[in-house]
Amino acid sequence: LPEVFTQALPVLNEINKNGFEAYFVGGCVRDLILGRHIHDVDIATSAYPEEIKNIFKKTIDTGIQHGTVTVLNNGESYEITTFRTESGYQDYRRPDHVTFVQNLSEDLKRRDFTINALAMDVEGNVIDHFDGLNDLNQQIIKAVGKAENRFHEDALRMMRAVRFMSQLEFKLDPLTRQAIDDNHELLAKISVERIRDEFVKMGIGPGSREAFQVFLDSGLSEEVPGFAGKKEALAIFPKLNFAPSTEANLWALMIILLKIPNDQIAHFMRMWKNSNALERQVANTVEFFDLISAQDPNNYDLFKVDLATIASAIDLAHILGQPINGQALIDRYEALPIKENHDLVINGSFLLKNGIPAGPQVGEILDKIIEKIVEGELVNDQKAISQYLANHLNNE
Ligand code: ATP
Ligand code: MG
Repeated sequence: LPEVFTQALPVLNEINKNGFEAYFVGGCVRDLILGRHIHDVDIATSAYPEEIKNIFKKTIDTGIQHGTVTVLNNGESYEITTFRTESGYQDYRRPDHVTFVQNLSEDLKRRDFTINALAMDVEGNVIDHFDGLNDLNQQIIKAVGKAENRFHEDALRMMRAVRFMSQLEFKLDPLTRQAIDDNHELLAKISVERIRDEFVKMGIGPGSREAFQVFLDSGLSEEVPGFAGKKEALAIFPKLNFAPSTEANLWALMIILLKIPNDQIAHFMRMWKNSNALERQVANTVEFFDLISAQDPNNYDLFKVDLATIASAIDLAHILGQPINGQALIDRYEALPIKENHDLVINGSFLLKNGIPAGPQVGEILDKIIEKIVEGELVNDQKAISQYLANHLNNE
């Protein structure tokens, strides 16, 4: 058993000792059986939140109204959720109320897919009420119960289906797939942030091209920001030889496929509720990609970006099948005599001391000096720069 599980065993044992049931549930059991990396374990219990808080010394009320308490044990934290069902789904979004229930099988019933509806006790016995083990074996994503009903309860599950397709490289069960085709419009009811998180996981998973095809064919893509009516442009994605592997490059690729002009990138990224930092990173990557697609960049172009942007743009060129010698660009960047403004041995006040009058020309001359240095026409040395300035002033 991987360490994430063995470390959690004392917590489950402690709950058991107090007369309650406790199980590992959901994604961690699925990933254990698949032999995938497990980042954390989720625990489900018959104990009420108040009872969990009585058993353990250190707890945090993470989502007490949903039945979740975080227990701190041995330097680790565990989310422990009381068995519950959900009711009163309105607007095709998450439930209004949760109801605590006394048995595990009621709790498993509310979960999205059979492969996510598995539980495991401290002895390692797997509880599988919906044939999830068989679906894991067959590599099938199948809704628990009637797919249509489950997507009516929470339309995000349709995005989760294509997300798991991509992450696990699984197929969709035909009835689950049919229900997505029939109900894709309901995705419009879901908040952008929740859609985005699933979209990104779908877009960078190992099976992203197969999943993206379903995302397009089912009509789901029509319901997300900026994608409506763009099926044809996006149809390139499933045909790519390589798929993006980072969040930034997924967005950069979308922007390129959708032919979003530079001055609309910020708007597009904001529609998806992406952070300003990610937006900057993506815009820089797209801009540099456009540059290297059109021409061989000069050293000053390389100086103005950073290594991460260069590497992302090279990745994009690779994804889009453009013939670019990436290593040569990286080598040239590495060989630049200065890589940042602060690598320069002088600054604006040095220029003033050397007779340049205050004003906008200070910045312009600094830029000119940087350009000369990165192009190898001037040495990054105070004497050499003084000399250059003297000539410059004489020539005026
Ligand atoms: P990951 O490895 O990405 O965390 P996961 O399966 O753990 O995958 P989570 O989003 O963390 O996914 O959800 C944990 C579990 O909660 C799922 O395995 C599933 O049983 C249940 N679950 C999560 N979201 C939903 C949902 N929208 N509808 C029904 N069940 C859900
Ligand atoms: Mg999880």
